[in-house]
Amino acid sequence: MRLVTFTHQGQRRLGVRSGNSIIDLNATDPSIPSTMREFLEAGDDSLSRAYATIDKGACAIPATDVTIQAPIDNPKKIICIGLNYADHATESGMPIPEEPIVFSKYASSIIGPDENIVVPSVSSQIDYEVELVVVIGKQGRNISEEDALNHVAGYMVGHDVSARDYQLEKPGGQWMMGKTFDTFAPIGPDLVTTDDVPDPHNLGIRCILNDETVQDSNTSQLIFSVPRLVTYLAHVFTLTPGDLIFTGTPPGVGMGRDPQLWLKHGDHIICEIDGLGRLENPVVSD
Ligand code: MN
Repeated sequence: MRLVTFTHQGQRRLGVRSGNSIIDLNATDPSIPSTMREFLEAGDDSLSRAYATIDKGACAIPATDVTIQAPIDNPKKIICIGLNYADHATESGMPIPEEPIVFSKYASSIIGPDENIVVPSVSSQIDYEVELVVVIGKQGRNISEEDALNHVAGYMVGHDVSARDYQLEKPGGQWMMGKTFDTFAPIGPDLVTTDDVPDPHNLGIRCILNDETVQDSNTSQLIFSVPRLVTYLAHVFTLTPGDLIFTGTPPGVGMGRDPQLWLKHGDHIICEIDGLGRLENPVVSD
């Protein structure tokens, strides 16, 4: 199932993409929560109601009549994994990690498809990073790797936009400030539930900047798998429905090129993952 958050006639609602239509879940069944986090918090009950709604086939709106928003705009956590593809670690001049590198973004950095990525005037090194994003569906702490995927609701495309000068040159080597400028976490368009993603570790993943493919890899290249990451994170803190895990980016980022390549006003960038969708955003200056 391809869950979407959309706006139609000024109202924000939850839906399911079905071909060229969006099924309005809230209009079909008012007991279904209208925000993605509440929907995920309701667990299997929400999912079965949503499937029942699809079977009714009612309240379908042409996709061209709605505005697709970020699937979720208020996760309690946005967890990001650094250097999770070996070739990307090498191009970044960093050792291949033996344990996941973890940082975070704030929810204020989230934007949806077609919204502007804003280049802040204080940075001159804005980089792109296409990433597979894991969406947590079930609360848990100390989760085994065998049980980890039971805590995952689905997957989506994410973009870990990064100000390299802030990420790498700030005191203490802290990454977070360079990763959490407003608009630096585009996500979407769809949250694809796990039953429609047979193998999250075999998905083509690409980034296309102004018609040039700048990243082209496969999630089979992940150093730390989705279950490994869930287990690793949950040995420290509780994962809750709606939490997002950005799993790291493949090689090809602008920082690793010669000459280096930075995002600028007027650029158009596409992040895509096979089976999950295509996330397009224009780039504008502050
Ligand atoms: Mn990243």
